[in-house]
Amino acid sequence: MEPTEETKPAARPVVYYSGLAPFRETFQRGLPILTYHKLGPRPRGVRLKGLYLSARLFARQLAELREAGFQSGSLENWNAQAGRRIILTFDDGHTNVLEEGVEPLAQNRFRAIQFLPAELLGKTNQWDVAQGEVPEPIMDAAQVREWIASGHEIGSHTLTHPFLTRLTPDRAREEISASRKKLEDLFGRPVEHFCYPYGDWNPAVRDLVGESGYKTACTTDTGINQATDSPYSLKRFTARYPTRNLKSFWGWLSSRRREKKK
Ligand SMILES: [Zn+2]
Repeated sequence: MEPTEETKPAARPVVYYSGLAPFRETFQRGLPILTYHKLGPRPRGVRLKGLYLSARLFARQLAELREAGFQSGSLENWNAQAGRRIILTFDDGHTNVLEEGVEPLAQNRFRAIQFLPAELLGKTNQWDVAQGEVPEPIMDAAQVREWIASGHEIGSHTLTHPFLTRLTPDRAREEISASRKKLEDLFGRPVEHFCYPYGDWNPAVRDLVGESGYKTACTTDTGINQATDSPYSLKRFTARYPTRNLKSFWGWLSSRRREKKK
């Protein structure tokens, strides 16, 4: 096996999560939250390739966490978790997560939360498509019910996935508050967790989230969470494909996968 990141000198800060080795020490210092987006094969022409994980790599990441003693934590009691806890989050509600992710999650006894753009259920990631990205389906209401029935949670990712800090306070409040009501009405369960689209937040937006009755909000700021941190600016690590030059077990694993596909 190639040397892992852990055995190499820390040349640069690790931002993306592709395996546990470089994070072992960090994850002992607080509550880790991972961000996932899309699972399964990448469609032709995708721009943000790293945000697709193969089901095989996703399953391998979960198995590694389970074998290291990690269990699902919950956002509900995020600041009072004992033992090795980790929270798995999915942004954007993509259908491919339901198709590719539910089985590996069940096999490794992990739960996850999907942050849904409430107005776009059954549609696509049109906020990305406007920037030239390939359309990717978002779960419709029936599929969200399937996700919930599989033991997973949902949270709000606004109505339409805007940059919240660029909106008027009234529009921002609408995106934050009406999305919660819409999801609660549709699925008949409390929606208490929020996630800022693009990780775009400021103190005014954060206060609107608190006023709208959410218990937590996830950012895209990188880091580990301490119990004394604000619940409305939780930090996460984005899980993604290892970069090609990462000489680690994970690089080896993905190259082996690419070879198999040939
Ligand atoms: Zn998003």
